[in-house]
Amino acid sequence: MTAAARDASRVLVLNSGSSSVKYQLLDMREGSRLAVGLVERIGEETSRLVHTPLVGGTGQRERSGAVPDHAAALKAVAEELDGDGLGLDSPELAAIGHRVVHGGLRFTEPTLIDEEVLAEIERLVPVAPLHNPANLLGIRTAQALRPDLPQVAVFDTAFHATMPEYAARYAIDVTTADAHRIRRYGFHGTSHAYVSRRTAELLGKSPEEVNVIVLHLGNGASASAVRGGRCVDTSMGLTPLEGLVMGTRSGDIDPAVTFHLKRVAGMSEDDVDVLLNKKSGLVGLCGDNDMREIRRRIDAGDQQALLAFEIYIHRLKKYIGAYYAVLGRVDAVVFTAGVGENAAPVREAAITGLEELGLAVDGDLNAVRSGEPRLISPAHARVAVAVVPTDEELEIARQTYALVSGREYD
Ligand code: ADP
Repeated sequence: MTAAARDASRVLVLNSGSSSVKYQLLDMREGSRLAVGLVERIGEETSRLVHTPLVGGTGQRERSGAVPDHAAALKAVAEELDGDGLGLDSPELAAIGHRVVHGGLRFTEPTLIDEEVLAEIERLVPVAPLHNPANLLGIRTAQALRPDLPQVAVFDTAFHATMPEYAARYAIDVTTADAHRIRRYGFHGTSHAYVSRRTAELLGKSPEEVNVIVLHLGNGASASAVRGGRCVDTSMGLTPLEGLVMGTRSGDIDPAVTFHLKRVAGMSEDDVDVLLNKKSGLVGLCGDNDMREIRRRIDAGDQQALLAFEIYIHRLKKYIGAYYAVLGRVDAVVFTAGVGENAAPVREAAITGLEELGLAVDGDLNAVRSGEPRLISPAHARVAVAVVPTDEELEIARQTYALVSGREYD
């Protein structure tokens, strides 16, 4: 590595979806965010880029008009960054960190990308057909823009690679499972890693000392059991469909429902896929997947919204109980992501009734709105209940920077 590369301290984080690219530019030495933005509806006539520089005092900028593909999207992002004096050709840029959804069994650490790594990510497309192709596209586009720059893949599955075999395996025929790489991989790992570490900090302890149940409740939702900083179980499986009730996904379901839908309801494989991934969960139960709207409807006496909420909470409680048993001793239950950070009624309902487990929520603390990590359990509670805002981009940048510079940043 050259001296210039060693001194460079900026990391561009790219989260490339099939029709969107989210990005953030961070300075790891300063511990600051320099710009954030998003290009959405790539490939349509109505694409939009929203760019917010966080230094220099200029406000948010928007561009609309067709962005045909990821290459055009990244070119537009590069131009916006250039306009702020933060161009991708800057010697300050140390690396680009890419979110990659599925790392399979092989990628359990942030990984410097080369052709062989790209080929392996490609080989994982059958287990992540919606995500890995878009992630690959983002990487190839970024490589074309800065071929000389280290590009690092940070995998959503990586944090869960420490799950013991008995938690990771489905109880199905081993030969079939191994032939098709069918096992529980888990997702949202970057968030679970970040939030469990920050929770230990909040408790004034090192991650090795604490056992934490992390509830990542966004539109997608997953729970994890983290013992001494290492994941020992998580609710998502081969794909992000398993586990909690989500915005549009069913979570846990008897797999025989899928046979039934095909044999009796005459649905195709794709119909069932769409039903379980896009038309189920909260949206399937009550027509809305935004928790704010669901709470508003409940307050107005809507019984369908109430039932959806009760099903959501029931599942959440079952996972808290299950992971309590898996961990044996729990130091904290922590809520994060859009719902977990903002929806006080969800936190209250999920914890109510678990007093015998040492779990309780203080009403006043729970009602506080804040972007800071905070405790919401009563003083002297046996088990802490906390809210810790997640920051997947910072975690990707941190891991990327640590890999390319050999330096840690917190
Ligand atoms: P994802 O990253 O999975 O798309 P987020 O973590 O951004 O999701 O969470 C989005 C969800 O958070 C929304 O669908 C909504 O249900 C919920 N949410 C956001 N803000 C609030 C709020 N103030 N109160 C309740 N729920 C909220």
